[in-house]
Amino acid sequence: MRKILIVGGGYAGFYTAKKLQKHLRRGEAEVTVVDPLPYMTYQPFLPEVAAGSIEPRHAVVAHRRHLNKTKVITAKVTKIDHANKTAELTPAVGEPWTVDYDTIVVTAGAVSRTFPIPGVADQAIGLKTIEEAASIRDRITDNFAKAANLPAGPERDRLLTVVVVGGGFAGIEVFGELRSFASSLVAAYDTISFDDTRFHLIEAMGRIMPEVSLPTSQWVLRELDSRGAQVHLDTQLVSAVDGKVELSTGETFESDLIIWTAGVMANPVVRNTDLPIEERGRIRARADLRVVDENGEVVPDAWTAGDVAAVPDLSGGGVGGFCVPNAQHAVRQGKRLAKNLVADIRGDAPIEYFHKNLGAVAGIGLYRGVYQYKKLAIKGFIAWFMHRGYHGFAMPMWERKARVFGNWIINFLFRRDLVGIPARDVPREAFETFASRPKA
Ligand SMILES: Cc1cc2nc3c(=O)[nH]c(=O)nc-3n(C[C@H](O)[C@H](O)[C@H](O)COP(=O)(O)OP(=O)(O)OC[C@H]3O[C@@H](n4cnc5c(N)ncnc54)[C@H](O)[C@@H]3O)c2cc1C
Repeated sequence: MRKILIVGGGYAGFYTAKKLQKHLRRGEAEVTVVDPLPYMTYQPFLPEVAAGSIEPRHAVVAHRRHLNKTKVITAKVTKIDHANKTAELTPAVGEPWTVDYDTIVVTAGAVSRTFPIPGVADQAIGLKTIEEAASIRDRITDNFAKAANLPAGPERDRLLTVVVVGGGFAGIEVFGELRSFASSLVAAYDTISFDDTRFHLIEAMGRIMPEVSLPTSQWVLRELDSRGAQVHLDTQLVSAVDGKVELSTGETFESDLIIWTAGVMANPVVRNTDLPIEERGRIRARADLRVVDENGEVVPDAWTAGDVAAVPDLSGGGVGGFCVPNAQHAVRQGKRLAKNLVADIRGDAPIEYFHKNLGAVAGIGLYRGVYQYKKLAIKGFIAWFMHRGYHGFAMPMWERKARVFGNWIINFLFRRDLVGIPARDVPREAFETFASRPKA
């Protein structure tokens, strides 16, 4: 049986495996997914997870439950030697080992891209994982609880100041959602007022959300401004050492929550492979999702999709001729890849990936959203409703959709859950405090 190894069970990898389960005949191939995480993460929900509108576990999909005809290995792929068709797997505990394969599918996604700004690596938090989103939710609720007991002063201000770096889609969504979350929290405290909270978004360019038109992005700016949030355009973060934020404009303030959303880059793990990589660190691909070398020659038995891949955008809508890194592409590429791989196994020709952009939809806080498709822009409540509808149904698996929609309905009826569990980071503390120890 042909052995297919899928590196990464995120959007693209999960859908590749799911569709291979469906299309492969019994005995045709054995499919293995390797991922250090036991679930795929629905990343568009991360801003709503951070803002308490979606429970963290509802925004992920367990590999072992939904890829039941696929072999799942929870480990990192640390090396690929495609010339010899072997991959090194490194588990969280234990020694690395090597597996062999016949066909490899690399869908290892992207990671947060940072710049060497003092303090960022130590102080900031990204927004690419469910752990980060859940931790942001706990941090903000914990900071409100702490600030409520403090008199006016710098420490109180620091706890009630939220900074988001990066005015792309993810940055604006989490900024808007957290502003909305903070307003719900303010209502629960009689010692914290709306004016005590400060929200700063730092964007190096002269505008936000390049995916929407300039007038739409300006509407979003006005919307955020009306909610007391401050957007610093044409501004760079210069330092974040110990939470002291310094901007290129000379402005400084302190913050206990600095969220970095200023870009992503292809997963650097691909540098530990002998697969062809282009200038931006992505695996070179043809439109049919087969890996190609610098001369455009197909590398046999190697496929790729999603954020880690430089896939030509045949619709003409991409950046530099390539598909932009988003879920719209990752899902569809995963499905196409599975069909192409099955066709290849059966001696048929693969079909080129083609997808026309469906537009962009974002939630920027409870009951507020924005949608843009070409010149059509919808703003406010309807766009927010579209955002929830689209993503609720795009969430893989009915079981997961039901949890998300169910949670939204419960929140609508009883308001969103303001509970944080900050002690989750130190779960043994309560036990340890009172535990008897042997006498010295
Ligand atoms: C906050 C946020 C909001 C977003 N909103 C939208 C949106 O509204 N619309 C949209 O279209 N897109 C959105 N995106 C982008 C979208 O989520 C990504 O483009 C999509 O997840 C890419 O899919 P992927 O499969 O390439 O990578 P991922 O989904 O990131 O999956 C990569 C997988 O590889 C695994 N992996 C990493 N290293 C290794 C290794 N060494 N070995 C094995 N496995 C490994 C990871 O654990 C992960 O499971 C958003 C992203 C973020 C962060």
